[in-house]
Amino acid sequence: MIKINEHYLKLQASYLFADIARRVAAFQEAHPDREVIKLGIGDVTRALPRACVEAFHQGVDEMAEDKSFKGYGPEQGYAFLREKVAQQDFQARGADISADEVFISDGAKCDNGNIQEIFSRDAVVAVPDPVYPVYVDTNVMAGRTGKFQDGRYEGLVYLESTRDNGFIPDLPSTPVDLIYLCYPNNPTGATITKDQLKTWVDYARDNRAVILFDAAYEYFIRDEKIPHSIFEIEGAREVAIEFRSLSKTAGFTGTRCAYTVAPKNCTGYDADGNPHSLHKLWNRRHSTKFNGVSYPVQKAAEAVYTEAGRTETRALVDYYLQNAAKIRSAMTELGFECVGGENSPYIWIDGKRDSWEFFDLLLNKAGVVCTPGAGFGRCGKGYIRISAFNSHENVDKAMGRIKDALAD
Ligand SMILES: *Cc1c(COP(=O)(O)O)cnc(C)c1O
Repeated sequence: MIKINEHYLKLQASYLFADIARRVAAFQEAHPDREVIKLGIGDVTRALPRACVEAFHQGVDEMAEDKSFKGYGPEQGYAFLREKVAQQDFQARGADISADEVFISDGAKCDNGNIQEIFSRDAVVAVPDPVYPVYVDTNVMAGRTGKFQDGRYEGLVYLESTRDNGFIPDLPSTPVDLIYLCYPNNPTGATITKDQLKTWVDYARDNRAVILFDAAYEYFIRDEKIPHSIFEIEGAREVAIEFRSLSKTAGFTGTRCAYTVAPKNCTGYDADGNPHSLHKLWNRRHSTKFNGVSYPVQKAAEAVYTEAGRTETRALVDYYLQNAAKIRSAMTELGFECVGGENSPYIWIDGKRDSWEFFDLLLNKAGVVCTPGAGFGRCGKGYIRISAFNSHENVDKAMGRIKDALAD
């Protein structure tokens, strides 16, 4: 008799986006003539940069001729891409990362989800609250938690991000081994300073813990003082692994390209306390279970690092940041406290009432879809997330409608 992995039975069905879709469908059925503006999901809406599209086409053309055809590539990615990532995303910012520490992949979601495999089953895991659910669910699947009770899994340490701590969690009061951090944050849009990040790096060094740093929204940082990478912090190489993605950076959500940075001296320990390179473990996992990102996609990704690509990618992100500024200022003017929206595409808004109640109000009275914060964890109760991924026209229209709705 084949037995299942019973840890899967502990998983909570993600009602969040299904519930949103159901409420939106009901509204549209009742009001077929009213247009709904979606500022809910975290998916980009604008086309790939021209430079990426051209390189993508060229990559496909090379596949069409025997002499330039490519079969399996290196599992870790082509050197042409790894080198540009190391130089432009890290070395140019004073972060000491080499090309062979960069692992190209088909997504930061997969990498964030897969990385936990290289750690012991009894590792104590700390996750943010509110949280990007991938960090939690993949550890549930691996059996690192107990049951789900009162909105939380037993065995996980929840790092609370609240108004009181400025949406940067305090260090855990009980020892943890594996720490998930995400900055600029999804869903709160909060950013972390170098000093705050240094506190976490020091904690990890003192406790022989590891930080998994998700920097999927790094490209939205415009404030010079905010760190783009955890490797800008002294001592991080031994205790951190970083995740980046071209999804939100350059519109690759449907094209798929991301990367993980695992420094060679990033260290974990066996049961006897002997040190081991996590880079080696990740390399083994990656090359055993993954066969590389397609060549044309890596060519398209490489184009982000050309002069034209950089200019176009920056303009793309600027467009969303202009939306974020509009949303933040409109909601602030209406008397709501807002986090994010300055170096992030997300605005986290204290609705001063239940998340779902505010969601329903915005949907029914303004025809605007947001995401109820309660769907991201206990600390999200009372908040909503509005995303900047839409057109200027739709954002202007949505903010006007919200203003009218709340004036009633
Ligand atoms: C969108 C997002 C990612 C990126 O996922 P991809 O699989 O690269 O598209 C990773 N982490 C967070 C927090 C995200 O919001």
